[in-house]
Amino acid sequence: MVLLDGKSLAKEKREEVKKKVEDLKEREKIVPGLAIIRVGNDPASEIYVRNKLKACEEVKIHAIEKHFDESISEQELIDCIEYFNKEETIDGILVQSPLPKNFDEQKIISHILGSKDVDGFGIDNLGHLLANQEQVLAATPLGIIHLLEKYEIPIASKNVVVIGRSKIVGRPLAIMFLNRDATVTIAHSKTKNLKEITLQADILVSAVGRPNFITQDMVKEGAVCIDVGINRINNQVVGDMDFNAIKEKASFITPVPGGVGPMTIATLLENVYQLALKRKKEK
Ligand code: NAP
Repeated sequence: MVLLDGKSLAKEKREEVKKKVEDLKEREKIVPGLAIIRVGNDPASEIYVRNKLKACEEVKIHAIEKHFDESISEQELIDCIEYFNKEETIDGILVQSPLPKNFDEQKIISHILGSKDVDGFGIDNLGHLLANQEQVLAATPLGIIHLLEKYEIPIASKNVVVIGRSKIVGRPLAIMFLNRDATVTIAHSKTKNLKEITLQADILVSAVGRPNFITQDMVKEGAVCIDVGINRINNQVVGDMDFNAIKEKASFITPVPGGVGPMTIATLLENVYQLALKRKKEK
């Protein structure tokens, strides 16, 4: 079994982005810019945003956070997005999910210009993904693809099972696999006989959010196992997979923590850089 070391690859990617950002600044006088909009006081969101800001600072991406109380109106939030849409120094805009329940998240996100939709969650970028004309791709799924590429794990013609169909992970990831010629099955809470399906997987991805959801008997001998889940048990972070048992059967497996998680932020940084490069081309 080989461990898919997302932590090391993410470090490599961040260093690469830092060099490219320095180079862009020196040659073109462009500093990539990211605006993060956060609403309310969700503690996990606060930590995620802090980590994103810190990562940007490390690679010299200019990042700002606009934080609003949850009493903000929908129109004020849209006005803020429109402001950043026009702001030349900002290449990427992201609205930290989840928004408080009274907001229609997809409607809010739809106001971000497609060319600044750094998370790739807007309808424009999702449409391009579906049409196999990928543009900005969501950071977690793209980070997974980068991890597979780094370890030279073939995707074409493989049976891939993705468990979870969220807009941020399962759904876009499944389409990315399809665009890379895999045979893809998407499973979710209404799927019947899950074990029969997972046992067919050459590449098995779990993005459910339940500890020990995938047990060893659900995994084919030699499968590549990607665990997206982040679950907290007694102050410890674990994934969806029973790691210790499954690692005996898997050919490759991501640890949690240290697998998919670190790739997400590294990929976000790369996305901001790529959008800044487009700004340069349009200049
Ligand atoms: P989510 O929106 O809650 O989606 C969970 C998915 O799991 C849903 O599609 C749901 O099906 C499916 N599901 C629930 N119970 C199931 C069951 N019994 N059998 C099969 N499928 C089932 O979660 P998410 O935002 O995609 O995140 C999933 C996990 O990944 C969470 O632990 C999250 O913290 C983690 N995550 C990690 C990263 C990272 O960077 N590592 C990034 C994002 C998320 P339905 O659609 O039918 O409800």
